[in-house]
Amino acid sequence: MYTPPVREMRFQLCSVLGVDAPEDLVEQILDEAAKLAVSAFLPLNRVGDKSGVVCTDTGVTMPPGFRDAYQAYVSGGWNGVAADEKWGGMGLPFSVAMAVQEMWQSANMSLALCPLLNQGAIEAISAHGTDAQKALYLPPLVEGRWTGTMNLTESGAGSDVGAIRTRAVPDGDHYRLFGQKIFISYGDHDLADNILHLVLARMEGAEAGTRGLSLFLVPKYLVNSDGTLGARNDVVAASTEHKLGQHASPTCVMSFGDKDGAIGYLLGAVGGGMAAMFTMMNHARLGVGIQGIAVAEAACQQALAYADVRLQPKPISDYPDVQRMLKTMQSSLLAARALAYDAGHALDRFKASGDKADAARADLLTPIVKAWATDLANDLTSLALQVHGGMGYIEETGIAQYVRDARVLAIYEGTNGIQANDLAFRKILRDGGQAARTYIAELRTFAKAAPDLPLDDSLTALESALTWVLAASPDQVAASATPFLRLFALTAGAARLAHSLQISREKAPDMAPHIQKMAAFFAGNSLPMTTALQKIVEGGADSILK
Ligand SMILES: Cc1cc2nc3c(=O)[nH]c(=O)nc-3n(C[C@H](O)[C@H](O)[C@H](O)COP(=O)(O)OP(=O)(O)OC[C@H]3O[C@@H](n4cnc5c(N)ncnc54)[C@H](O)[C@@H]3O)c2cc1C
Repeated sequence: MYTPPVREMRFQLCSVLGVDAPEDLVEQILDEAAKLAVSAFLPLNRVGDKSGVVCTDTGVTMPPGFRDAYQAYVSGGWNGVAADEKWGGMGLPFSVAMAVQEMWQSANMSLALCPLLNQGAIEAISAHGTDAQKALYLPPLVEGRWTGTMNLTESGAGSDVGAIRTRAVPDGDHYRLFGQKIFISYGDHDLADNILHLVLARMEGAEAGTRGLSLFLVPKYLVNSDGTLGARNDVVAASTEHKLGQHASPTCVMSFGDKDGAIGYLLGAVGGGMAAMFTMMNHARLGVGIQGIAVAEAACQQALAYADVRLQPKPISDYPDVQRMLKTMQSSLLAARALAYDAGHALDRFKASGDKADAARADLLTPIVKAWATDLANDLTSLALQVHGGMGYIEETGIAQYVRDARVLAIYEGTNGIQANDLAFRKILRDGGQAARTYIAELRTFAKAAPDLPLDDSLTALESALTWVLAASPDQVAASATPFLRLFALTAGAARLAHSLQISREKAPDMAPHIQKMAAFFAGNSLPMTTALQKIVEGGADSILK
């Protein structure tokens, strides 16, 4: 059974990163979240997978037990871990909320996707809302009494967001929206009293492409000025998708304006829709990275337990090839978690200091965390299945669900191909590689402090590939972006493992032997791929383009 890795989380947050919160408070939060994740979310994971959701004319009904579990989460105040105290939140660092989030996701990813989206909506309204919008919408969202969605995708507009056709027509102090969105997670459900849809749409006459898009707040139930709920708005879930995994997360086709138009309110500036939505998306991208770590952690724990009890004729965990699979999972998770929290910590530092270098670091790491952690989710859940042999392929062990649930993570919230483009074009080329060079210089200090781990070749490979990206043509960069992101991730993950090892020797000697073992395994079995990836980045593009 899944046990949240609370000790490791606390070590990363408090000892390695030194987050701005008392250690005993962090410990208490992690312990209490672990209890709820295991007692309320985990028992429903299989239930939700088997029963799925039901969509009728009156809306979407969630699987049995989901409403109670969500209510337990809301009444514990868990929806507001990182939210501003002014709106009812706990005001804790985002990096701490990431660890808490990981537990919900490991225990029940379908259910936990709902609060993940809420957090993004809270961020977007906090950053772009008027004072009146914040006062009206943030308290119930922070509490979790209402939930939020993000509405970008349309049948003709997936990765190409600029092709969005949903229209917004001015009508007094608000707008009326007409159009159809597809694949909208938690577009409808019966967990909460109201749903706030954040919808990208084009005002009549606005220019084509992303610059003509604005963001609108479209409540399921209209909200009176005193915060009470009014009439049902003209937005409905027309249907839900039947899909490979995450069966208990309703993925909805949303119809806006079948009657006289869905009433929406502008959030942020006219034509500033993408900028405002990016606040939500960046947040959600780190959250999806955490989903990847979370589902792989749950699968890894199950594989570790199974390997000790399965006799062929001795425990299969005694065989070197099984040890290879188990250690691949454990070491990759340790590295990815360290990297993800580092990204969250950069956001926390930016919030506290306003230092643009911290924002640049968070921006740089966001696509790396999203893509690497979710590629790992696919690789590692598959390895966990492999450890189970034939039983892994049989639904009753539960490993197959992890494999199915994980598959979408590399697709939604911007496919991993789009993340690689984002890293190369927006995060590297736009500042001439400055943020990347600063980060790599820090990784070099970690390498120097851990001379027993062979990191130098990988750092040199990354620097060489970075120089190549900065000099290459746009087509070459696009062709090499995915191996470049992987090279960056593996090197950064290994360096953060080296750093964790150094800190554990100083501050947590009980953890040092395990981290030493994992860092050595990662250096010997995963890191050597970096020199091959450098060759692919620098030598593979032309054959793709020919
Ligand atoms: C279960 C689920 C839940 C979802 N939840 C939401 C949600 O809540 N809100 C929402 O708005 N959307 C949601 N989505 C939609 C999701 O974000 C999109 O599916 C995703 O962005 C990809 O768009 P697409 O499916 O149209 O694929 P396409 O854009 O058609 O991409 C197909 C392939 O082409 C590649 N590709 C496309 N353009 C480029 C490019 N410029 N450069 C390189 N490669 C490219 C992609 O990487 C991919 O491999 C969800 C999807 C699913 C399956």
